[in-house]
Parts: sequence; C-alpha cells; structure tokens
Amino acid sequence: MCETTQLIEWGISEDSHTLRIIVSGAAGFVGSHMCDRLLAEGHTVVGLDNLLTGAERNVAHMAGHPAFRFIRQDVTRPVELDGVIDAVVHMASPASPRDYLEHPIETLDVGSAGTRNMLELARAHQARFLVTSTSECYGDPTEHPQVETYWGNVNPVGPRSCYDESKRFAEALTMAYHRTHGVETNIARIFNTYGPRMKLNDGRVVPAFLDQALRGEPITVFGDGSQTRSFCYVSDLVDGLYRLMLSDERYPVNLGNPQEMTILEFAERIRRLTGSKSGIIHHPLPQDDPKQRQPDITKARRILGWEPRVALDDGLHKTIEYFQKL
Ligand code: UDP
Repeated sequence: MCETTQLIEWGISEDSHTLRIIVSGAAGFVGSHMCDRLLAEGHTVVGLDNLLTGAERNVAHMAGHPAFRFIRQDVTRPVELDGVIDAVVHMASPASPRDYLEHPIETLDVGSAGTRNMLELARAHQARFLVTSTSECYGDPTEHPQVETYWGNVNPVGPRSCYDESKRFAEALTMAYHRTHGVETNIARIFNTYGPRMKLNDGRVVPAFLDQALRGEPITVFGDGSQTRSFCYVSDLVDGLYRLMLSDERYPVNLGNPQEMTILEFAERIRRLTGSKSGIIHHPLPQDDPKQRQPDITKARRILGWEPRVALDDGLHKTIEYFQKL
C-alpha cells in the first residue's frame, strides 16, 4: 500500500506536513520524546513547561534546532502565543504517583485550568488539540483488559484522585470543547510507559527497580507483587500519539503495550537483565494501587494502524544504557 493511501486510511490528511505545534509538558519524559518526533517529521515546535517535574536537560539537545523554541511557562496561567498555530498537544502534568502525591493541587490545576487554557489556545487559532490522558481513568479496574468504553472504578477522594480526576475532568472538558466549539480534539489514554529520560527518583517502578538493581540494593516490591502492569516503550507510545494527533478520532484511544506481567515477574526480569544480585524485599502496597492493568488496543490497531513494536528486553536495555550514563 502506498504511504498516502495508508495515511488517508488512518484519517491522516496529506497536508499534515510542516505544522506549527505547541507542546505543553515539553520538558517531561514523554513530552520531550514527542517534541523529538515532531521535529523529525519536519514540524515546528514550541515547547512549554514550568519545570515543576520536567527537566531542562530533556530539551537541551533541541536548543539549537531552528524549528524548536522552548518557553518556560506554567500553562495554568493564560497562554498567549503569536503566529500560526496548527496543533496543540497538551501533555503537561505530574505523572508519577510520587510526583502527583507531592503536588496534588498543581496536578488538579493543570488538568483543569491548564487544559482550559490550552483548549482556548486551540480554539482561538482553529488548531487541532490532543490531550494525553491516562489508564488511571479506569482506576482499580473491575473489567480486564481495559477497553475505552469501560467507565472505570476510581476512588474520587483517595490519594490518587488528584491525578485520576484531573485527567477525567480534562477528558470531559476536551469533549465539551469539541461539542460546543467544534475544536478538532483527540484523547489518548496512556498506559505505563518507560524509556530514557524517566527521572531516576520519580518513584515509578521502572526507574526504581533499575536503580536498585544497578546499585545492588534490595528491589522494593510493594505488596506481594501479584498486581500487574503492561509496559510500553516510549518510541512506540509517541508513534501512537503522533498518529492519533493527525486522526479524526474524537473519543479516547488506549495507547500501551498489552504484554502484561506481575510486578514480581517484572522485578525478576530486571534482575536478570542487569545481572544484579539484588534481593527482593516487600513494602506495603500503596492505597488504591490498581491490582491489574492491561490495555485493549483493538481500537488503536483498527483506526491508527498502530501497535507496539519494541520488545520489553530491548526497551529495557536502552533504558539501562541511559541510566548507566547518568
Ligand atoms: N511498585 C513497586 N515498587 C516500587 C514502585 C512501584 O512494587 O518501588 C509497584 C506499584 O505499587 C504499582 C506498580 O509497581 O503496583 C507500578 O507503579 P508505578 O508507580 O510505576 O505506576 P502506576 O502504574 O502505579 O501508576
């Protein structure tokens, strides 16, 4: 199939080249990889980030790029930008449980006021809009694997609610802007993602286990380790986000790798890949920690022609290399 036919099949228009795209959360782990991908596709990117949980070093390599500009900006404050804007990609938010538990109000603000400001920017410029939502919208799911039509099982007042409800509100606001103002919107529900530029100390299981294994310290499995997750390498995720951004799909689309494993199995995999002699110790399971999580990606396969390609061991090797160089 020729490339153009395939793009049209995915709902991607041929004039999708050389867009000027605003990316909030550009200095974050996924945000910075998204900027890389957009630049590689020939687009012009204006990256916004208040550096609350992002890091300047994640965008430092783009500093001299003629099509990239970085602005230190808190998107919960009004965002005014000159010039043509074709697309707004709203990725700003604390995303690791440690980060959002430390910044619960900022997390709620960026999902509400921040999403509103970015939607207003898109509306004012007749730009398309993509928001990165999360598998946390499903909470501690009672349906498995999770399909986009599942409404979730979220504790609205628990410690994780600042993130879950912020993202659920962001989805609702995005649909309201689409329905009321006709903004061309997309909603990505991102499942657990890993890769270079994760923060070593953000508390998430991938950097935590890798750090512990590389130092020869005990690997801290929370609970009995029977809870499951499914890990997607960041380049796969970004490919899905890019396809979604150029598609006409308005309802949420799951993006993640369906290969599911228990956290105990994951700890053992990390031990094997790093050749570590670390033991495993158990810590209490955090409140409302989802017991199982696996994306159903039938929809992404169908409408985006997308599925993950990077095998877990390959992605972990690349992540290990990155952490070893820090
Ligand atoms: N986890 C763990 N040890 C750690 C960090 C996390 O056992 O040092 C567990 C955590 O309880 C959860 C899973 O690993 O069940 C994934 O946690 P993470 O914080 O990466 O993301 P989540 O999927 O919970 O948002």
